[in-house]
Amino acid sequence: MPDRGPRPLVVGSGIAGLYVALRCRELGLRPTIVTKARLEESNTRYAQGGIAAAIGPDDSPARHFADTVRAGAGLVDREAARVLTREAPARIADLVRYGVPFDTVEGQITLGREAAHSRSRLLHAGGDATGHSIEETLKQRLLDEGVEARERTALRALRPGGRDGPVAVLSVATGTGVEVEPARPVVLATGGIGSLYLQSSNPSVATGEGIAIAFRTGALVSDMEFVQFHPTAFYREGAPRFLITEAMRGEGAVLRNEDGVRFLVGQHPDAELAPRDVVARAIWREVQQSAHPWVYLDATGLPRDRLFARFPSVSNFLLAHGVDPSREMIPVTPVAHYMIGGVSTDLEGRSSVRGLFAVGEAAATGVHGANRLGSNSLVEGLVFGERAARRLRSPAAGGPVPPARVLEVPPSEGLGGREERSEVSGIRSSLWEEVGIVRSAATLRSALARFEEVAHRTEPAGSDGLPGPVANAALTASLVARAALERTESRGVHYRSDYPRARPVWRRHLGLRLGRTSGRGR
Ligand SMILES: Cc1cc2nc3c(=O)[nH]c(=O)nc-3n(C[C@H](O)[C@H](O)[C@H](O)COP(=O)(O)OP(=O)(O)OC[C@H]3O[C@@H](n4cnc5c(N)ncnc54)[C@H](O)[C@@H]3O)c2cc1C
Repeated sequence: MPDRGPRPLVVGSGIAGLYVALRCRELGLRPTIVTKARLEESNTRYAQGGIAAAIGPDDSPARHFADTVRAGAGLVDREAARVLTREAPARIADLVRYGVPFDTVEGQITLGREAAHSRSRLLHAGGDATGHSIEETLKQRLLDEGVEARERTALRALRPGGRDGPVAVLSVATGTGVEVEPARPVVLATGGIGSLYLQSSNPSVATGEGIAIAFRTGALVSDMEFVQFHPTAFYREGAPRFLITEAMRGEGAVLRNEDGVRFLVGQHPDAELAPRDVVARAIWREVQQSAHPWVYLDATGLPRDRLFARFPSVSNFLLAHGVDPSREMIPVTPVAHYMIGGVSTDLEGRSSVRGLFAVGEAAATGVHGANRLGSNSLVEGLVFGERAARRLRSPAAGGPVPPARVLEVPPSEGLGGREERSEVSGIRSSLWEEVGIVRSAATLRSALARFEEVAHRTEPAGSDGLPGPVANAALTASLVARAALERTESRGVHYRSDYPRARPVWRRHLGLRLGRTSGRGR
């Protein structure tokens, strides 16, 4: 294939990174993809619920658009949502072309439905193994196309590189030292931040590093206060926080506290079927008053056959961990699930830094507003990934329109001290307790002070130093806390106990950018 232009460096190998790299290849570019663990390790691999696109006979992009806007609590960027919903069917056609084995009946793709979607529009592959199927298919295709793919290779830093794009600094797990790449366009497809929270549905690679690295390079980030929590994941010390789908409550499972009381009854007309954020908050309040960090999901009223036929993955997972859901109540906790915010981009993936792109969960286009419509995130990686790949053929300057409110964040005067891994567990606890499902000025200030203190100790002293995982975690966490402190209202997934209602003055996005003056000693 001819080399017709830039040789982009794609960072991350979830749906967004694999798809961008593949499409760049098909468009005649010569991309390299690097990823910090194995190629398939990503949030994408664990997605169960499905991928949304208006392809049903009774559906239309306009309906999908309306549902997306309704879910987003007044903050959806309408142009981004229009692009997402209009272009989703074509991107699904791409997946079909690549060979993703979507579930069918008599040759027709079957479509499921979930809360807040007004039509059946969720495609599945292998039932609840949708993300796994997509990830495996794209990975295989990428290797078949001969795209250069480097596993266990992490992006550590970006430096200004002039017209061609940033200079990327990489480190290879098996090697010593770092590699400095020549200046070229860089696409961040590094995913979300979920695993920085103590309770999380995300795998350990989801640490928000890409966002921290982009921020240090001067990129605008936005919507960092909007972290989506899923209400029910299995809770057991040492076991993964496996998601227990809403559909189980849809089938009749109910939530009980340790006294066996259905605590959502009387709190919301739909009780256990209330919106995700309402259920997550109700569980959070119960847990605050309880001796345990969990409540119970009670599916014992469902016929055993139906339970196992309808929820095979969940039932088998529970059995493997010693819980028979047809006989016993399931201990559950809410978990951090999806990062709505990230690196601000335009609708072609361009960030505010020349030659630096972001796509997928690492990016913030405004498409989800203040609350993501379920199953819109896999498809987001494809739609904006396609647009970024096309733009990469001629990555002229562009970038996002800055949000109405941009905060200058003072740089940390780091000491570059030794990084202690144990610091990360402190950050995870503090994010969960103080910057989690329910926040207030007091908790946010306390968390921010802690994150800044860790950043001060671990951030490299000079601009040439390379931040490690602790400095990155502290920076990302501080951006979430700072944005959440600034937004003095409750909207979508962001809930402040001291400002429990939405305020018209906050019907706008909030951006954060690195300022020029030091934050210490103020
Ligand atoms: C349990 C679960 C269920 C979900 N269910 C659904 C669903 O049903 N439908 C839906 O639409 N969405 C769902 N989501 C959300 C969705 O899976 C993610 O938003 C989406 O997969 C993100 O894709 P991505 O490519 O942007 O990032 P990811 O898939 O997270 O990939 C990020 C990649 O970047 C790599 N990386 C990170 N930092 C670096 C670095 N410094 N250097 C090199 N590589 C790096 C990681 O190793 C990884 O390969 C679910 C998420 C979870 C966790």
